Amino acid sequence: MVNEKMESSVAGLFVAGDVVNKRLRQLVTAANDGAIAAQNALDYIKKNK
Ligand SMILES: Cc1cc2nc3c(=O)[nH]c(=O)nc-3n(C[C@H](O)[C@H](O)[C@H](O)COP(=O)(O)OP(=O)(O)OC[C@H]3O[C@@H](n4cnc5c(N)ncnc54)[C@H](O)[C@@H]3O)c2cc1C
Repeated sequence: MVNEKMESSVAGLFVAGDVVNKRLRQLVTAANDGAIAAQNALDYIKKNK
């Protein structure tokens, strides 16, 4: 389970692709998840360094 930032219940752990609990598991949704997760992971690192 993830929030809208693709962040899991573990702070700083971002998730993308088929491992996410969602209805449509396809290449395009995995790529979409990845773009969102990567950006938010970067923001998280900048905020917490
Ligand atoms: C038979 C089939 C047909 C499909 N057809 C389509 C289609 O036509 N169009 C479409 O859009 N989607 C299709 N999909 C869905 C699509 O393949 C997935 O949604 C997409 O690949 C998910 O990407 P992912 O990166 O989350 O996972 P994956 O592509 O599964 O990548 C996960 C990677 O992690 C690796 N890995 C696993 N465990 C470990 C570990 N412990 N350490 C290191 N690496 C590890 C795996 O080897 C794999 O390379 C199909 C799926 C299946 C099963």
